Amino acid sequence: MSKPQNQSSPQKASVCDGTDGGSQRIVMKFGGTSVADPEAIERVARLVGAEADKGNGVAVVVSAMAGETDRLAALADGLSDMGAVQSQDYDMVLAAGEQVSAGLVALALRRMGFKARSWAGWQIPIITDKDHAKARIIHIPENPLGAAIDGGEIAIIAGFQGISEEGTITTLGRGGSDTSAVAIAAALKADRCDIYTDVDGVYTTDPRIEPKARRLRSISGEEMLEMASMGAGVLQTRSVELAIKEGVTICVRSSFEAPLKTPDETSQPGTSIGEPQGNLADRLEQHIITGVTPDHKAARISVMSVPDLPGRAALIFRALADASINIDMIVQAPSRINGYANISFSLEESDLARAQEILAHQKEIIGYQALHADRSVSKISVIGIGMKSHAGVAATMFEALSKHNINIHNIATSEIKISVLIEAQYSAHAVRVLHEAYGLSDDEISIGESG
Ligand code: ASP
Ligand code: MG
Repeated sequence: MSKPQNQSSPQKASVCDGTDGGSQRIVMKFGGTSVADPEAIERVARLVGAEADKGNGVAVVVSAMAGETDRLAALADGLSDMGAVQSQDYDMVLAAGEQVSAGLVALALRRMGFKARSWAGWQIPIITDKDHAKARIIHIPENPLGAAIDGGEIAIIAGFQGISEEGTITTLGRGGSDTSAVAIAAALKADRCDIYTDVDGVYTTDPRIEPKARRLRSISGEEMLEMASMGAGVLQTRSVELAIKEGVTICVRSSFEAPLKTPDETSQPGTSIGEPQGNLADRLEQHIITGVTPDHKAARISVMSVPDLPGRAALIFRALADASINIDMIVQAPSRINGYANISFSLEESDLARAQEILAHQKEIIGYQALHADRSVSKISVIGIGMKSHAGVAATMFEALSKHNINIHNIATSEIKISVLIEAQYSAHAVRVLHEAYGLSDDEISIGESG
């Protein structure tokens, strides 16, 4: 396949461009580094105040100050036995960090002359199940937030926390205030959910590996989910799932880049996630691959010389599934010994030792000859909604890698993703090669990229 043609064309304004005239409902979420100290909190208050000054109704969701949740978790760990990690008392401790930052942001806003008040999760209430430390939001009932923000009062909500039906305080899992923000945006039927963080958007690949990586102007929810679950690290995966389900548009922005010179400059475009299809149509048409994602936490197991009989693969994967071990890239090939096959698959490095142990126990039953484990592999994926309708995306990937003598061990595909498993030592090189091969590094590219 020839190189994809990315041509410039006039683009519709993104929901995240901030070109609206005000009088919208907006949720603004700030992560730990954005509220790390009093100066940072004042900066946040100015960003929030600028949106309120435009006439928007604003709800703010905050994380704990950077490092605070770790500190609280260490305190709780130090005074409890192992089982405590999922108790209500543990969550009582963990949830405290967000309460502090919500109160501080409200205080800063009031000192600047804005009407503002802070809200704990239970005051809204954000109802969750009682799975402490990893609770899921069940629903947010009718609540006074909408009326408060329409009346010009800025609501500052403690992220990461909720309340179970039994009345205990719960937390949503690490990174969970992203999910709080999306849930609040859905409950308020907000026009958008701005997630301010220490990066200024979602990139075509990791800029530390490929300096030519570009910030994406927009990305679909499905693509983001593939990126997020592979450790792109910008958002909690659950928040993206919830945004897709509830039709919430997320804008990822930097809270440090905003210069605050004029009210208009407070809204850096960042990356929009999951904009309504109509808005995206012209951009997505010409946009085949959105990103290249490396995953260095992959490992591989090869089960050598398994009898080529029905049910042997089932034995292997059932044993691993029963231990909740996720596996993804499976390859089966004939063995050198007649009537036998080799089965290799990838899994998360953190599950490798457990998987080896389980399969070693089942050696007789499965009937294989040898087991090989390999930590020095990386999974490289190319992701793009355009591959649903374009041929040759896989061929481009394999050609580019082979031209650079990078050998592929395993392959897996989905509708919008192709992943390959390669030797870890080539992973940075592979990322750069693929970024180039799909035209993501081209200077003239403008589709899907921030201008
Ligand atoms: N403060 C919590 C954490 O550190 C939640 C969050 O920041 O999203 O995981
Ligand atoms: Mg986070």
